[in-house]
Amino acid sequence: MGLVYDKRMTAGLRKFIDGLREGKFLSTKCKKCGKAFMPPRFGCPCGGTDLEWFDVKPEGELYSWSVVHMAPEAIARKTNVPYVVGVIRFDDGLMLVGHIDQAKLRSKPKVGMRVKVSPKELDNGDFIYTIQPA
Ligand SMILES: [Zn+2]
Repeated sequence: MGLVYDKRMTAGLRKFIDGLREGKFLSTKCKKCGKAFMPPRFGCPCGGTDLEWFDVKPEGELYSWSVVHMAPEAIARKTNVPYVVGVIRFDDGLMLVGHIDQAKLRSKPKVGMRVKVSPKELDNGDFIYTIQPA
């Protein structure tokens, strides 16, 4: 682990964010055992360190959601409360936590509703993703 792992993590996150910028949703899969990760990881519990990138079809169903009234300090500086977070279960079974884009919701989120993950550009030029109705 250590520094090499950190460098791979930084380069990997950059690739993930560059993917969002291009409208792609990328993650990694272990070449040794085939386990896929979401968000991307760069080492596998099986001991495999050779992971390959693949395109995730960014659609699935809302597995769970919650309203956050007290944000962690790091998030509170960038986000107004309350905000809504959810867990999407992609059609391939992978799951991911993210903010639900409330502006795109026509009513309260419902477990099981079809949702997708979409890239979103922030005022500072950074790219994040949000969960919104499919
Ligand atoms: Zn593995």
